[in-house]
Amino acid sequence: MQPELIPESSYLITMRDGTVKQVNPFTGTEVWTVPGRANRPIGGDGAKPKPLPAEGRDRVCAFCAERYLDTPPEKTRMVWDGGGHRTIRDVAADDLDATTAEFRRVPNLFEIVSLEYWRRNFDFEMPAAVRARRDAYLATPTGHAHVNGVLSSRLKAAGWSAERIAALPADERLAMADAFFAGGHELIIARRHYRDDAVTDADLASSGTLTPEEHNQYMRFTVDAVRDLYEGNVYVRYVAVFQNWLKPAGASFDHLHKQLVAIDERSQQMEAEIRLARLNPNIYNDAAVNFAGRHNLLLAENEHAIAFAGFGHRYPTLEVFSKSRRTQPWNHAPDELRAVSDLVHACHAATGAHIPSNEEWYYRPRDVDVPMPWRVFVKWRISNPAGFEGGTRIYVNTIDPSTLRERVVKELSALRDSGAIADMAIGPECNWQYNCLRYARGQ
Ligand SMILES: [Zn+2]
Repeated sequence: MQPELIPESSYLITMRDGTVKQVNPFTGTEVWTVPGRANRPIGGDGAKPKPLPAEGRDRVCAFCAERYLDTPPEKTRMVWDGGGHRTIRDVAADDLDATTAEFRRVPNLFEIVSLEYWRRNFDFEMPAAVRARRDAYLATPTGHAHVNGVLSSRLKAAGWSAERIAALPADERLAMADAFFAGGHELIIARRHYRDDAVTDADLASSGTLTPEEHNQYMRFTVDAVRDLYEGNVYVRYVAVFQNWLKPAGASFDHLHKQLVAIDERSQQMEAEIRLARLNPNIYNDAAVNFAGRHNLLLAENEHAIAFAGFGHRYPTLEVFSKSRRTQPWNHAPDELRAVSDLVHACHAATGAHIPSNEEWYYRPRDVDVPMPWRVFVKWRISNPAGFEGGTRIYVNTIDPSTLRERVVKELSALRDSGAIADMAIGPECNWQYNCLRYARGQ
């Protein structure tokens, strides 16, 4: 359905039999929730958890802390030095084990948008500082071996034989390795694979099992990387930020990480949303937060952010909106960023580590003049669209927004009582006001 033409009265309708029909005001996605399907158990792949051995829990996957050489050279890492978190840039290969990375920023070995894409389509050239960093890294025997090793695994995964890899001339090898220094698809990887108190292999360390402060550092570190990607390539129009948690949600490993992908478009979806925001600059209050508040869908609120159970999504979705006047994450003041982080963290904690999820960020692209707030969605990937959806474009979501809200509010209250999430107003405690998002009056 054309979002411009959707009347507010059709965003959320409950039929006499209990069927809940929803239309997303921004995308036009039509969703039904049919009674009786909402309370099915969710999450978990049915496998019986296996006890964890005492040794080797940090060598389980290529993102693990004892396998730093399995990923391309780090751009930055965040360390805890006893008193606070600090960021170290350009860690040399010989120093990788000198500190423990709480979070590290590394290029994705398998890029969605490659360095070649920017080179061939835009004549993008590696900035001098990046070239200097590459040369410095490759100048040590350890660095050289690391880059060669990672390059070989990448080529092997692409189907190259060992002989063909060995026969590759040094200059071609070097050119291929440039992607590890100047590419635009990156990962932010957290330290733990399992929780510190893990007993079985089901005790994974997810976003929700971090402390609120660790989660804040995770967000801050990611935001710094987003800004850096924009600064490093003038042709970039948008940096997409997302987190796939568990395999059904698209993750390669059950190890907490976010992905950043720089692209040269705003995407069709974003273009459509820009048109809506131009027609009604207050749309994110009107069609999101005001509507959710009026329909008692609010989950939680703090000074600078608000969360609610979303409507018109293919999957049950928790939406967190920044109330800041500033529309891009890297312009947020530290307490504003912390407020968004606290609510996103709480949403993950209430979701639980066993539910596959996608976290998606949205914010104003740098070449757009229309104000749009920063918002983060957490989607529960608990069902797969089937034939009915393909034929009708009407999606069946198993949990309606009110049921989702009830379930999450109960979890949030228990989590706050136990101190696992930051202090915040929950459910009916929210002191929500109309037009609480200030982005339209901001920058
Ligand atoms: Zn791992």
